[in-house]
Formats: sequence, C-alpha cells, structure tokens
Amino acid sequence: MKVLVTGGAGYIGSVTTEMLCDAGHEVTVFDNLERGYRAAIDSRAKFIQGDLRINTDILTAMADVKPDAVIHFAAYIEVGESMNIPIPFFENNVSGALHLLEAMVANDVKKLIFSSTCATYGTPERIPMDETLSQHPESVYGESKLMCENLFKWAKKIHGLNPVFLRYFNAAGATEKYGEAHKPETHLIPLILQVPMGQREKIFIFGDDYDTPDGTCIRDYIHIRDLAQAHILALEPEIEGAFNLGNGDGYSVKEVVEVAREVTGHPIPAMLEPRRAGDCARLVSDSAKAKDVLGWKPEYADLHSIVESAWSWHQAHPNGYED
Ligand code: UDP
Repeated sequence: MKVLVTGGAGYIGSVTTEMLCDAGHEVTVFDNLERGYRAAIDSRAKFIQGDLRINTDILTAMADVKPDAVIHFAAYIEVGESMNIPIPFFENNVSGALHLLEAMVANDVKKLIFSSTCATYGTPERIPMDETLSQHPESVYGESKLMCENLFKWAKKIHGLNPVFLRYFNAAGATEKYGEAHKPETHLIPLILQVPMGQREKIFIFGDDYDTPDGTCIRDYIHIRDLAQAHILALEPEIEGAFNLGNGDGYSVKEVVEVAREVTGHPIPAMLEPRRAGDCARLVSDSAKAKDVLGWKPEYADLHSIVESAWSWHQAHPNGYED
C-alpha cells in the first residue's frame, strides 16, 4: 500500500516506517522535524518536510502522494509539558488533526490509523483496561488525543472516514537502527539507561506512596516492534474501531530499575522524589481485542528483552541522533 506517515521522524513513527518498508509498503514520511530527526527516517521512505499546523503543507503533500492510508503520529506527547503549555498542545495536536482530516477528505483518502493513548481513559475504573472503559482524561495531552478521536468519529459518520484508534500503553525498546531519543527525555527507561551511559548520576523515582505492592507506579511496557506491527495489521481495510496495545503485565518503577540493573550490570542509584503531577497508580492493558481482531501477537513481551534492546541501541547511539 501507499502509506503517508505523519511524524515518521519520531520514535514510534521511525520504527513503524522501517517495518512498513520491510513489509514492502511504499512510505512517505511527513514531519516538521521540530522534535523528530531526519536521521530517524528510513532511507527507503520518501520525505516531505511540512507542518500540520499549516494546512497548505498537508493539503499539498496529500494531493502529491494520494496515499491509500495515513498513519498519524505527529503530535506533542509529554503529559507534564501539556499541563504547563496547554494552548500550543491543543494547537499542534488538534488543529494538526483537523488539517490532516481536511486534506484526507479533499483527496478522498479514507483509511486512518491514529496514534492514541491509554491517557484518554484517565484513572481507570478497573484493571486490566479494555476498550469499553469510559474516557475521562486527566491531562491536556490525553484530552487532546480524545478530541482527535472524536473529530475522526464525526468524519466517519459524515465523510465515510475509516479510522482506527490504537491506544498505546508505554512504548519502549528499540530496533537495531531506531530507538527512543526525545529532547528533553522524560521517559523512564531511557532516563534510567542514561545512568550506566555516564550521562546522569542517578534516577529519580517519582513517589513510593501509591496503592501498589512497592508503592511505585505500575505501567505496561510494550516493545516498539510489537507496537509498530499493530499499525501494519490495522491497515487491513476491514479493521476499524479502537484497540488497546500493551502486554497485560504491569511493572512498578522499582521493578523496571531492577531489570535495568540486571541488563546493564550497573548499580543504577535511585533517589526518591515526590509524586509527578498527573500520574495514575496503575495502567495495565487488556489487549484481547487486538489479539482477536487484528491477529496481533506481541513477540517481545518480556521486560528484559525490551530493556536489552533499548540498552543496545543507546550504547550504539550514545547521543541519540545528534551525531
Ligand atoms: N518515572 C519516574 N522517574 C522518571 C521518569 C518516570 O519515576 O525519571 C515514573 C513515572 O512517574 C511513571 C513511570 O515512571 O510512573 C513511567 O513514566 P513515563 O514518563 O516513562 O511514561 P508515562 O507512564 O508517563 O507515559
């Protein structure tokens, strides 16, 4: 298929682009490179530099490429940042989605795979979390993603759009070529690995007074390859609706630090800090629907292999893509 990938220079976009190319799809990446990297774009993909906030950028790209499907990653993604600068967040994430939609409708492109998040649920009513939970986000980030889902739902009713919402839990790990390099980095696993890399002295643990066995927050870490694979499966024309993507196993922050100590052989000192605003105690996915309907089979579910792949990538790319 001819696939347009917005945000293909970012973490999840770069790996999905690599795997789409491996699977023989014809890929064009659309990215403004504000937070992504040119070096993260697979050389087999075409590249259009453009900004979704500028509607003519995406209108022109869509008309030039005329894709069979769009995979939409481009967005701001930091929960903490979203609570400090809500307006740029809504502007980038929501107006970007509107412009993308306008360009899809104008060019009669129906198939959309949207990078959504478990943050659209807010604090879940039950664990593990399936797609029938009510969505009541507790951050601007989560709200911006839910607003996009709603825009796309209306476009389904009115314009016959075929949207698929992939609600991610915690993406982690790397392929040989592409890994996680955010600027600034805020995610747990890459921050932990900066300690054995000699780039930071210790890791801060944000709160140990949650209602969990060791008091630290529990998350569901999913290998980036498995996450990317779900996007490829979701390209099938009959697939629609929402899918939660996680392994169904929850690991506490302390457990993740321990696994990183085992993988790297480094003591990785940890220091307790107060809770981080907006964190829920537990987020663990029930991904039965993705397995049944998409035929999704996570292959790298074990946290050791996820951290090992991240560790290999960070050792090979100590400065991320900055070299
Ligand atoms: N976390 C932490 N120290 C850090 C970064 C993250 O204790 O330096 C915790 C964070 O509070 C959360 C978990 O690790 O409970 C995962 O955070 P991350 O930012 O990686 O992903 P999120 O779950 O927020 O999407």
